[in-house]
Amino acid sequence: MSSWEAYVRKVVPYVPGEQPKQKDIIKLNTNENPYPPAPGVEKVLRDFSADELRLYPDPEIRDLVDAIAEQKGLASNQVFVGVGSDDVLAMAFLTFFGSQKPVLFPDITYSFYDVWAELFRIPYEVQPLDENFSIVASDYCKANGGIVIPNPNAPTGVEEPDGVLEEIIRNNPDSIVIIDEAYVDFGAKSVLPLIDTYDNLLVVQTFSKSRSMAGSRIGFAMGNPKLIQYLNDCKYSFNSYTMDRLTILLGKAAVEDQAYFSEQVERIIDTREWTKKQLQELGFTMPDSKANFVFASHKRVDAKTIFEELKQRGIFVRYFNKPRIDNCLRITIGTNQEMEALVAALKEIINQ
Ligand SMILES: *Cc1c(COP(=O)(O)O)cnc(C)c1O
Repeated sequence: MSSWEAYVRKVVPYVPGEQPKQKDIIKLNTNENPYPPAPGVEKVLRDFSADELRLYPDPEIRDLVDAIAEQKGLASNQVFVGVGSDDVLAMAFLTFFGSQKPVLFPDITYSFYDVWAELFRIPYEVQPLDENFSIVASDYCKANGGIVIPNPNAPTGVEEPDGVLEEIIRNNPDSIVIIDEAYVDFGAKSVLPLIDTYDNLLVVQTFSKSRSMAGSRIGFAMGNPKLIQYLNDCKYSFNSYTMDRLTILLGKAAVEDQAYFSEQVERIIDTREWTKKQLQELGFTMPDSKANFVFASHKRVDAKTIFEELKQRGIFVRYFNKPRIDNCLRITIGTNQEMEALVAALKEIINQ
């Protein structure tokens, strides 16, 4: 047996939700947005000339950084752009989590965090959520090498009560606290205003959910210019041309249409509230979601059965076979029509 395998960096990869090939399905399993991106995005696609692809893109992604900064009321040196927030988060783990002390995050959370920690050999320690799926602030006020918390959390949709995250950020001046706000646009409160007060806070957001652009891979981080500089140093040491020419233009067009953005987000929030009521009437319980999905369990029929029955009817939702959440389904909010179809199918399944 050859020995090279002893030196391979062995990892157990993150498993994303299924992307089925069939066309006529209802896809509520990866928290994508059911509405198209802003009309300006389509226009950029039509007007883009293939000739532009001869040249490398701008490594600083300046046009998109500036557009995001302008929309958020920040300076450009407070914004870092990456290829999806997965890329931004991975870069942030690599950049900021170099301590020997463990990085802290919740036991029920985005399942990429422990994968990056393993990949980069970062020690970590999960902190159990309470019985309402909320974090316990005191769990994050002990020695640590960094903290990452999504707000609202995934896959629960739960928003942390006002003030809790600030308490954690304030109590950890010696480590970087990353707040992953992938779903914040669907009605939760952002900690973004705190970046001027706390130089250890990094806020991460994405175009994948609220801006309907999961296929373009655009994510960004906001924080103190020093944090942004360190992130860029690591990025340029790994791959300087991360975002391609076309995507930079698409992202800029998306950010610039704030009216369209607000309108789509409102539609999804309305549909979410309607869906919650319907599911409750069918005997489901769920924590109050502030995201574009709900996390529901039924009092009588187990989640795995419902998941499989829905799939047979061409409706894909997400099921996690993990401790504490193996009787819950994460259901993305689609169009009204899609959610009506979901409710009709659930009625059949529950009553059979
Ligand atoms: C979807 C998601 C992301 C990653 O989104 P990108 O498509 O990579 O921008 C990051 N964090 C959480 C909690 C998510 O749910």
